[in-house]
Amino acid sequence: MCGIVAYVGKRQAQEVVIKGLKRLEYRGYDSAGIALLNEGLSVYKKKGKVTDLEQHLKGKALNSHIGMGHTRWATHGEPNDVNAHPHYSASGKFAIIHNGIIENYSSLKQELLNKGHKFLSDTDTEVFIHFIEDIKEHEQCPLDEAVRLALTRVVGAYAIVIMSLEDPDLLVAARKGSPLVIGVGKDEFFLASDATPIVEYTNEVVYLNDQEIAVINDGKLSIKNTANLPLTPYIQTVDLELEAIEKGGFEHFMLKEIFEQPRSISDCMRGRLDAQKGRLVLGGLREYLAKLTNADRILIVACGTSWHAGLVAEYFFEEFCRIPVEVEYASEFRYRNPVIREGDVVIAISQSGETADTLAAIELAKSKGAIIFGVCNVVGSSIARATHAGAYTHAGPEIGVASTKAFTAQLTVLNMIALIVAQKKGTITEQKLHELLVEMETIPAKVERALKLNDQIESIAAEFKDARNFIYLGRGYNFPVALEGALKLKEISYIHAEGYPAAEMKHGPIALIDEEMPVVFIATNDSSYEKVVSNIQEVRARKGRVIAIVTEGDKLIPKMAEFVIEVPSVHEALMPMVSVVPLQLLSYHIAVMRGCNVDQPRNLAKSVTVE
Ligand code: GLU
Repeated sequence: MCGIVAYVGKRQAQEVVIKGLKRLEYRGYDSAGIALLNEGLSVYKKKGKVTDLEQHLKGKALNSHIGMGHTRWATHGEPNDVNAHPHYSASGKFAIIHNGIIENYSSLKQELLNKGHKFLSDTDTEVFIHFIEDIKEHEQCPLDEAVRLALTRVVGAYAIVIMSLEDPDLLVAARKGSPLVIGVGKDEFFLASDATPIVEYTNEVVYLNDQEIAVINDGKLSIKNTANLPLTPYIQTVDLELEAIEKGGFEHFMLKEIFEQPRSISDCMRGRLDAQKGRLVLGGLREYLAKLTNADRILIVACGTSWHAGLVAEYFFEEFCRIPVEVEYASEFRYRNPVIREGDVVIAISQSGETADTLAAIELAKSKGAIIFGVCNVVGSSIARATHAGAYTHAGPEIGVASTKAFTAQLTVLNMIALIVAQKKGTITEQKLHELLVEMETIPAKVERALKLNDQIESIAAEFKDARNFIYLGRGYNFPVALEGALKLKEISYIHAEGYPAAEMKHGPIALIDEEMPVVFIATNDSSYEKVVSNIQEVRARKGRVIAIVTEGDKLIPKMAEFVIEVPSVHEALMPMVSVVPLQLLSYHIAVMRGCNVDQPRNLAKSVTVE
């Protein structure tokens, strides 16, 4: 999981590459490096951010029409200058950048050590390029053939780009399990982990598929697969506005994305839901809709925030479709030989559509004959392509590492899927369906209202910014919201936080409560309201400091809670889309006040493309 950018053409390569790396920095940012061809094949790399690399490059003669750069998210070897990419081959004639993991690197390394190879870094990546060169010398073949042969022997996930001292116009790239996009310009080519560094130059792109090798040589692109079959590049047009990938006046991407939610939720429903006309369609489901409607069981696989969206969907599907639902961590599901029967349907949720564990879970379920639906944000992503059917969330690029607008858009899509199924199955009355559709349409405006609480939430954040622990409690539909609120706080402020179903508190976490413990209750007016009120009393009785998210006009809770945040009223099944907003803002402000890097929290990366 990292960012890859490469360029060949008439421009100054270092400018394109550095700018591209900045756009991709959200993917990995513990070190950065660049390779250019001028006097020789020069590699510059530095621990830290892309700006540290830029600093390092100052005053150097960098003139080059070809180059490649990398932002690293370390898997093998600590983040330092030496382990940063690019890495040279043994002779120094080739350099590589790599996203992913080579799982059998230690046996390959041993093989090479036996032949006298010396390694400078601790990375699997350096082994990879030594291995490729070793094959090239042994087989006396061109670089792309050596790459192909090497790929038939390496196990793992990768996106790679290689440059050669011998061929000043050559870039060789390949992928398996990690994304790689090729931008096709006029007499120039771009390579990147996603389209964001490319769109300001061209919107014609080719998505490389797994097991494919791209060779860009003398201004021509050719693609073949690892079985050596030539393939015709399929050029597509990407629809990505430049402003969507810039901060647009906000201090952080995360804040911009939180504030974009009224629009991203509307975009997600546009053309799909119209309560007035009784319209509810998701084009991508049509072909397999009967499978979903007749499913005996739905298995939802996801990780992180997407897993929380899956938990909300569990409640929603079971309530309205009367289909049993199980929500699984993709990373557990894939390794525990799950029982999948005919009649089971899998829904995979992933913002990036590249999450390695979710992809592997999909492959496993597929091999057992299941039909898979995907809910992804990134168009053309690996999961979108690996699933039988699905629906995009259309939330626009999400760059802040802590997911916000993707979560609410996932809920929007999952609700729409469930309501379509419920309608087809007849498990919902027309009147109830109409009611819910009308309510869905009000969500963007209600989220807008919740965003108006920003100043109030900022002042609450000031009160709690030095807390060392937080507890988040909710019930029913708001239980996954409690988990999500706690996750947001942990991710970006590094405060330890736990999310729990409010009633479960008595079975353990209540022992943690004292006069210093902030307890965030998501206590909106729903079917478990009275029960949650009792839970608030229990916390108050132990002197916990209660911050409560309540429905506008609540008379009771303000008498008990130290701080009350009022959100607009909405049907309880839809409340998570509104009640999560103050929690996103709370963690954002706390993190900013603690001086944390909100968009690039330590140790995290945006899409987890390694397992
Ligand atoms: N496994 C490689 C390393 O640790 C690549 C990690 C990445 O994807 O950034 O250097």
